[in-house]
Amino acid sequence: MLEKQRQSRKKMNQAHADNPDIIEVEDHKVSCDGGGGALGHPRVWLEMGEDHKVTCPYCDREFVLKSATAQKSA
Ligand SMILES: [Zn+2]
Repeated sequence: MLEKQRQSRKKMNQAHADNPDIIEVEDHKVSCDGGGGALGHPRVWLEMGEDHKVTCPYCDREFVLKSATAQKSA
């Protein structure tokens, strides 16, 4: 079943980078402009839900709340 997920995800990402970045942020609300350059896009604001993470629909970068990951080691 994981294989199936991976295949559909790969299909979705074909127009994007093969390996999306994961970016740690400190706020539930983040802005993304693709980092400029070839991958740049108009700046958008993204709100995290209860998952404490959100994926930019433009560039597929994944933003993860920093405190959500830090709590593991506490
Ligand atoms: Zn983006």
